[in-house]
Formats: sequence, structure tokens, C-alpha cells
Amino acid sequence: MSEWAWQDQAVCRGDLRFTDRPAGEQAAACRRCPVRFECLELGVEQARGNSACGVGFGGRTSGEVLEIARTRGGRRTLPARLLRCVQCGARFETRSATARYCSKLCRQRTYARNRLAVVR
Ligand code: SF4
Ligand SMILES: [Zn+2]
Repeated sequence: MSEWAWQDQAVCRGDLRFTDRPAGEQAAACRRCPVRFECLELGVEQARGNSACGVGFGGRTSGEVLEIARTRGGRRTLPARLLRCVQCGARFETRSATARYCSKLCRQRTYARNRLAVVR
């Protein structure tokens, strides 16, 4: 079975005007679509708010699809923040919730120092 075979079962299949239909009508079609989970997975994987046919994947709104993609694996994309590197003190911008170092080098320096401290 091809990776895309599920699309043959899509309720919107062959409906070239699907995206022009009222949102409520599209959502109703997606709700009874047998492949809405595959469709949603595709959207999340590509982190795109809209499917090839322009509708929210699996009947989700584009915002919902992007939110699912962002929170997969517990990761969240935050707004950019300005932090101070715990190793060198430089200011750096990050979107990560857990970042502590301005660079890979500073992270390695800290790890190396900690390793030495343990050895002594
Ligand atoms: S869930 Fe996806 S495949 Fe199914 S009707 Fe909606 S947009 Fe089409
Ligand atoms: Zn640093």
C-alpha cells in the first residue's frame, strides 16, 4: 500500500471546490472523514496549518494543527527571549525553554569544568 493510499478514502477527494465551501460544511465533512487522523498527521508532520486542499488538516483549524506540532514531544516554541549565558555571561536570544548557554562552546566548557571538578 502506498504511503498516500489513504487519500483515496478522503471525503474531500476529487472535490476541487472543497476549500470554497463554507467552513462549517468543510468541518462537517472532515468530522465524518475516515482518514481524518492520517490527514491530521500529515499536517502535524509538515507543521502546516492547511492541507493540500487548503482546509485545516483533519478538520482542525490551522491554529490547532500548528499548536499540536509545537507541543509534540513536550517541546514548545516560546517567543524569543534575551537570556544571560551561565558560562560567559553574554546576552543571547533564544526560543528554547531550557537554554542556558550562548553557544555550544560555552556548554562544552561548563561540562568540561564539571568533569574536572568530579575527577579532583
Ligand atoms: S479530514 Fe482531510 S482528507 Fe478528510 S475531508 Fe477533511 S481535509 Fe479532506
Ligand atoms: Zn557563553
